[in-house]
Amino acid sequence: MGLQLDLPTVLLLYKTALVAGALSIFHVSRHSCRPQGLKPLAAAYLLLAIGAELAGRGEYLVLPDWLWTHTSLLLGTVGYPLFWAGMRALSGRRRIPMAVLVLVPGGWLVLGLVTQFPLDNLLRAGAFHITAAMALVGSAHEVWRDHRTEPLPSRPLLAGLLLLSASIFALRLLYIATDNASSAGFARAFYVQMFCHFGIALMVSSLSSERAAVRLERVAQTDTLTGAGNRRWATSMLPARLPAGSAIAQLDLDHFKRINDRFGHAAGDRVLVASAQALRSQLRDSDLLARMGGEEFLVYLPDATASDAAAVAQRLCAAVEQIRLSEQGEDIPVTVSIGLACVNSGGGTWADWLGAADRALYDAKRAGRNRVVVTHERTA
Ligand code: GH3
Ligand code: MG
Ligand code: MG
Repeated sequence: MGLQLDLPTVLLLYKTALVAGALSIFHVSRHSCRPQGLKPLAAAYLLLAIGAELAGRGEYLVLPDWLWTHTSLLLGTVGYPLFWAGMRALSGRRRIPMAVLVLVPGGWLVLGLVTQFPLDNLLRAGAFHITAAMALVGSAHEVWRDHRTEPLPSRPLLAGLLLLSASIFALRLLYIATDNASSAGFARAFYVQMFCHFGIALMVSSLSSERAAVRLERVAQTDTLTGAGNRRWATSMLPARLPAGSAIAQLDLDHFKRINDRFGHAAGDRVLVASAQALRSQLRDSDLLARMGGEEFLVYLPDATASDAAAVAQRLCAAVEQIRLSEQGEDIPVTVSIGLACVNSGGGTWADWLGAADRALYDAKRAGRNRVVVTHERTA
């Protein structure tokens, strides 16, 4: 193996990686839409860099032994629990567990002051490496356990790098314990550790930007008033050609202009929110509900026979009629008219079928509102 790495160079690279990581995470935290955990992470990187620097300088006899040993161990044992807390907050947990942040380094410090064990290189390294490995395994667990609620491509990579970093700490401890700290393998392990620190900082920044992209997409596809999908979302979700055995409905609240005029625009908004809730309550998760604009909604049932779809539409109509809202003691009458197109033969774009549903809606309005009209048009 041709790679020759001397320990001082690797140590320098290692500290550089930590400082670069701190700066890049700090930069991301200033521009992130959800910066939780990023500042503690940047601070942890910085503390670890200072701790590594102090350990290096101490060993060249610049500082008294008691000072650099206790302080570098304290920085390391504060740094890694803080790193874990930052990863936990970044991953999705809200609370930073302060007790762990105080008890872990506090425990090592008290033990160190009482027994003076940090003056022994092996014991000091042992305390630091065990704390680091545990914090890194804990961090990998935190990052991975949120992957169902927020699946982001960088999660598995970040969790993998954290685990790799934890195993390098375990390996390094083995080198130190077997008195092989000056071997080429030890330097190489340090080198991989440096690569992990760079990689982790990079993945933290990727996770933040992936999260921002997902959030932006959700905002762009959601109706802010009702929380239902909007027209953009509906058109992106509908299949280009509706399959036979599906159904599409166009819904329009009745006399909504009158509601606005009589009870005010804010009451009209409350009616829209309550209507969206009433409609959603009657649908399956796989059904699609979108507010297409104004007081118009679209419902798509991907898997419903004509009679099922008609029954669902009747339920939607009844659910809206049962909305109970009042303004200054007066009840607000809320009803909806529905045009339903059952896709009885495959083919026809969703826009064709929606056009058919819209014509049925017009018939429902003309027939007196608060009703469902099913179209028997065929769209080829
Ligand atoms: P029809 O029974 O024939 O459907 O009568 P309508 O009054 O419901 O029909 P029209 O389309 O004339 O009225 C729709 C009204 O919806 C007009 C518009 O001011 C109101 N509107 C559109 N968007 C909003 C909104 O976000 N909030 C409120 N409060 N009103 C809205
Ligand atoms: Mg309308
Ligand atoms: Mg209307």
